Amino acid sequence: MASASKPAPACALTAQIPAERDALGRLHVDRNLRVLGVDTVYATGDVAYAATDDEGNHAMMSCQHAMNLGRSAGHNVAADLLGTEPIPYSQPKYVTCLDLGAWGAVYTEGWEREVKMSGARAKELKTRINTEWIYPPSAERAEAFAAADPLRIFVA
Ligand SMILES: Cc1cc2nc3c(=O)[nH]c(=O)nc-3n(C[C@H](O)[C@H](O)[C@H](O)COP(=O)(O)OP(=O)(O)OC[C@H]3O[C@@H](n4cnc5c(N)ncnc54)[C@H](O)[C@@H]3O)c2cc1C
Repeated sequence: MASASKPAPACALTAQIPAERDALGRLHVDRNLRVLGVDTVYATGDVAYAATDDEGNHAMMSCQHAMNLGRSAGHNVAADLLGTEPIPYSQPKYVTCLDLGAWGAVYTEGWEREVKMSGARAKELKTRINTEWIYPPSAERAEAFAAADPLRIFVA
């Protein structure tokens, strides 16, 4: 007989941090992505339970959020070490783009997922996401720094 099981944690390593975690094992962080109660640890991407805005929304375990969280955490860890100002993580815009095979795709905006584009046009967008946007920049200094800018708005 099948039994109910707990979801797999975002990463088993988070259990080693003595801090509050959500049901997915993600660490609660402040707006600078510092783990609450553990000043020397920052969390990002799939392992951060991070507020995206002031409306009560939180990052999903998704590329969309992981990329911006990474930019912010990278900046803020360096700022912490160098004694400069952190830049709070903020990502109020939330979108989804769902591939539905040969028919096309569906693109939505907002946490209520209002459909903004569908069919072949949305499929073109999904193809760009999957073939260009999710890949890291080339190992070229200027391009890498530009891609790491925490103020870069990726989904406008
Ligand atoms: C099959 C699949 C499909 C997905 N599809 C989508 C999608 O369509 N759209 C979407 O938005 N999201 C999707 N996601 C989710 C998305 O991939 C993640 O949210 C995102 O990659 C998280 O980024 P991250 O940097 O936090 O972690 P990761 O991308 O997982 O990177 C973590 C890195 O840390 C390394 N690592 C782990 N442990 C250690 C260690 N002890 N020492 C050193 N390095 C270590 C890993 O090797 C890995 O390279 C998908 C995920 C999966 C698994």
